[in-house]
Amino acid sequence: MATATSVVQMDPKVSGYVGKTHKMLINGKWVDAASGKTFPTYNPATGEVLSNIAEGDKEDINRAVKAARAAFETGAWSKISHSDRSRMIWKLADLLEQHLEEFAQLESLDNGKALKVARAADVPLAIDHFRYYAGWATKIEGNTIPFSGAPQGKFFAYTSREPIGVVGQIIPWNFPLLMAAWKLAPALAAGCTIVLKPAEQTPLTALRLGELVQEAGFPDGVVNIIPGYGETAGAALAAHDDVDKVAFTGSTEVGKLIVHAAAGNLKKVSLELGGKSPNIVFDDADVEATIPGAASAIFFNQGQTCCAGSRLFIQKDIFDKVVEGISEKASKIRVRQGFDPDCDMGPLVSEEQLNRVVGYMDSGKKEGARATVGGSREGTKGYFVKPTVLVDTTDKMKVVREEIFGPVVTASPFNSIDEIAAKANDTVYGLAAGIWTKDIKKAHALAAKIKAGTVWINCYNVFDATMPFGGYKQSGWGREMGHEVLKNYTEVKSVCAAL
Ligand code: NAP
Ligand code: MG
Repeated sequence: MATATSVVQMDPKVSGYVGKTHKMLINGKWVDAASGKTFPTYNPATGEVLSNIAEGDKEDINRAVKAARAAFETGAWSKISHSDRSRMIWKLADLLEQHLEEFAQLESLDNGKALKVARAADVPLAIDHFRYYAGWATKIEGNTIPFSGAPQGKFFAYTSREPIGVVGQIIPWNFPLLMAAWKLAPALAAGCTIVLKPAEQTPLTALRLGELVQEAGFPDGVVNIIPGYGETAGAALAAHDDVDKVAFTGSTEVGKLIVHAAAGNLKKVSLELGGKSPNIVFDDADVEATIPGAASAIFFNQGQTCCAGSRLFIQKDIFDKVVEGISEKASKIRVRQGFDPDCDMGPLVSEEQLNRVVGYMDSGKKEGARATVGGSREGTKGYFVKPTVLVDTTDKMKVVREEIFGPVVTASPFNSIDEIAAKANDTVYGLAAGIWTKDIKKAHALAAKIKAGTVWINCYNVFDATMPFGGYKQSGWGREMGHEVLKNYTEVKSVCAAL
C-alpha cells in the first residue's frame, strides 16, 4: 500500500468531536449509560481508538422506549400539522447540508471509506432522503371505499393510514449515516417515534445527527439514539414489548434472530438483509461501459454493500476480455486511507471483517479458484485488502454461495440466455441483479425472470429515494424507499358507518 504524501486536513469541528466520550440521546437529553459503561469506536485505517461511546444496554433501551412511547401518546409529533412535520424534517436536511463536510469526514474516519465518496454519495444521499420524505409527510392518504356487497349509499366506508407507533430501528456499519436516514426519514414522515441503534463499529454520525435533530426542534423523545452492542442493546430493542415495529438492516443470520425476538408481542418486522447478487454480461454488451460498471458494482464501498454485484456471469465469447478488463481496473484501484485524496478504496470496517474476507479469499483458493488479481490483505497496518477477481470457480464453492461482504468477485462463463436465469437465481438471496446488453428486449425479458428486489440494466448501484429497495427470499421482508416504505410505518384503519 502506498503511503499518503498529503492528506486532507481534519475539519476543526471533527477534531473537536472525535477523541471525546459521547453520550446517548434519550428524551431530548444527552445521558450516560445507566451502567456507566463505555465502548471504543476505531479508525479502521490505523486500528486506533477514535472515541469512546456510552454503551447502551437493556436498561437504556427501556428508558428510551418509555420516552418514545410518551412522545407518541402525547401526540406532540403524531398529531401535529403535517406541514409542521414536513418543515422540521426539511430543516434537518438543511442542517445536514450545512454540515456536509463535517459529516463526510466523520463517516470516513469511523467507517474507513474514501472521504471523496462520503462527500459525493453518503451525505448527499442522506440529505436527499430527508427532503424526499419531508414531502411525503403531507401526502399520506387513505381511500373512500365503495361497497361491493351492499346497495350504494347504505354504508360510508373509508380507510386512514395512521402512524404505527413506537419504532425500533437497528442499522449496520457500511453506510452509517445513510442507513440512519433511510430509517428515520420515512418513520418521521409517518408520525412515528423512534429508538435507533447504530452499529457498534460506526456510531459517530448517528450521534452527531442526534444533535441536529435537537437543533431542528423535534419534540423530546421523538428520536432517541442508543449506541451499544447488538447482543445487548439490539436484542433488547427487538424483544421490547412496548415497541410496535422493528426495522432492521444487517445480516440474514441476525435478521432471523430479530424475527424470533419480535414474536413475544408480534411487533411488525421489516428486514433488509444480505445478498449474493448476480451481474450478467451478454456478448452484445457495450464492453467499454460494462467493464468499469461491473468493477464498481463489486468494488464500491470496499465491497461492503449488501447489493454488491458479487457473482459475475459473462457470456463465453467475451469472458476473457471482460475478466481481463475488470482485473486491470482492480489492479489500478488505489487502496489508501480515506483522507488521502488519491484513495479509491479504504480499509474494511474492522479487524473481524478483515479476517472474514481474507478467510474467504483463502477458502476460494483452497477449493481450486484462481485469483487473476488480488487475493490477499494489503499492507500490515489497518484493515486493507486487495480488490480481488476469482475465476475457475464452481457453483458449489463457498465463495460463490456465501456473502463475502468485501471486494471479492467470482467470474464464471455462461452459454446462452436460456440457462442464465436459473444460474442467477441459484442462491438463497434475492436482493439485486445487473444485466449488461444492448438488446433492451432481452434485458427486460431476463429482468422478469430474476428473483430480486432490484434489477439494474446497463448500470449498477444506482439509488434514488423514489425507488423501492429490498429483497426476495432470504434478503428480507418489505421494502425501503419510495412510497412503499411508508407501509412499514403505518397501520391501515377501515372505518365503516351505516347511513
Ligand atoms: P449484523 O451483525 O447483522 O449487524 C447489523 C446490526 O444488527 C448492528 O447494529 C448490530 O449491532 C445489530 N445486531 C447484531 N446482533 C444483534 C442481535 N442479536 N439482536 C439485535 N441486533 C443485533 O451485520 P454485520 O455483520 O455488522 O454487517 C454486515 C451484514 O449486513 C452483511 O451480511 C450485509 O449483507 C448486511 N447488510 C445488509 C444491508 C441491506 O440493505 N440489505 C445493508 C447493509 C448490510 P452491533 O454492530 O453493535 O453488533
Ligand atoms: Mg469505527
